[in-house]
Amino acid sequence: MNKLAKNKKLCPICGGVKKAGKTTYTVDPGFGVIVVRDVPTMICSQCGEEWIDDTTAKSLEKNVNEARKKKAQFEVVTLK
Ligand SMILES: [Zn+2]
Repeated sequence: MNKLAKNKKLCPICGGVKKAGKTTYTVDPGFGVIVVRDVPTMICSQCGEEWIDDTTAKSLEKNVNEARKKKAQFEVVTLK
């Protein structure tokens, strides 16, 4: 069996159970700060580590790229 798929709901660091939640993601594009709110994430109930899936990572990247184009020094966006 695929080890990765089997352990998908468990934290790879401590083996704790991951729970769905939301986080605020801060990115430094080199000229300021981009804050992305309402990012869906899986949070480990044991060590508190946050895990973002591929789909979320992609939309996060898209949001950051849009903010980057504006060249704003400080931009707060809510994940679309
Ligand atoms: Zn953990």
